[in-house]
Amino acid sequence: MRRINSILALLMVLLVLGGCAWSGVGKASGADWRQEIPLIGEWVAAQDDTLYVHCLDIGQGDAILLQWRGKWTMIDTGDVSHRPQIVEYLDHYGVSRLEQLIVTHPDGDHLGGAYAVLRHIPVGRVYDNGQEKLNYMYRTYLRTLARTGVKRVTAKKGDVIDLGSGAVLTLMGPPQPLLQGKNGKAEYNNNSIIAMLSYGSFRMLFTGDAEKEEEAWLCATYGDKLRATVLKVGHHGSHTSSSADFVRAVRPQAAVISCGRNNSYGFPHKEPLARIQGIGAQVYRTDRDGTVTVVTDGRSFAVQREGDG
Ligand SMILES: [Zn+2]
Repeated sequence: MRRINSILALLMVLLVLGGCAWSGVGKASGADWRQEIPLIGEWVAAQDDTLYVHCLDIGQGDAILLQWRGKWTMIDTGDVSHRPQIVEYLDHYGVSRLEQLIVTHPDGDHLGGAYAVLRHIPVGRVYDNGQEKLNYMYRTYLRTLARTGVKRVTAKKGDVIDLGSGAVLTLMGPPQPLLQGKNGKAEYNNNSIIAMLSYGSFRMLFTGDAEKEEEAWLCATYGDKLRATVLKVGHHGSHTSSSADFVRAVRPQAAVISCGRNNSYGFPHKEPLARIQGIGAQVYRTDRDGTVTVVTDGRSFAVQREGDG
């Protein structure tokens, strides 16, 4: 019924836009008015109340696509070695534009694919944590931003990214001021951008590579406000992350770990797995499950593993 309504409404839109073109109003911007009309498939998708979070199987690294009403947001881009795969994923899902790309921190397994993404499709704006790294990959990232003209925004705690129609991404970190490493060394993992996705009563927390130091800052700053339905586990399930207090504060029903098959770090480690499973969360991992997609209508949620059919 909804689909029939959608198609009827689409026909009305086409009639109205068609009328505008005949009267010349649609050409006010100088652009061909036909380009303003979305394809039927995109238009129907834009009416769909389902929000999808695809935690991509990108080997050792993070890359996540949020799909909402025909629009796309990406959190992290996988590593340099997986640039061909990240482009394949964009094509596979039919992503022709990203409204925003969030790079949680400038380590290779999160930032490495940004070059390929930015060159492949238009991106509305890029959020990063403002930390710069003195390496070739980081310079390539800056150069690609300059060449493509994509706006770069330094993420600040409290920033709100409105995805429209009731879905919101709230940036809860990086910490302010940024956390310092030992002996004055730059600290990257613990300054990851932290994002909370909310839609209806569903909440999903994305933590980049946050370790126990940033988790402690989050607990002290937000307490019970960290509560989420689903957790994207910090730092690929490393024992440096998912501290007991943090896991208790988030108390997720499901947790997604993004890590590579037989990765050399031994991710995910046993202790964080035990802590996450100990509070009753179901664990999904990209190394075993392939791409893990969380689906929600804002009330309930389901998790789909690649090959579940
Ligand atoms: Zn990482």
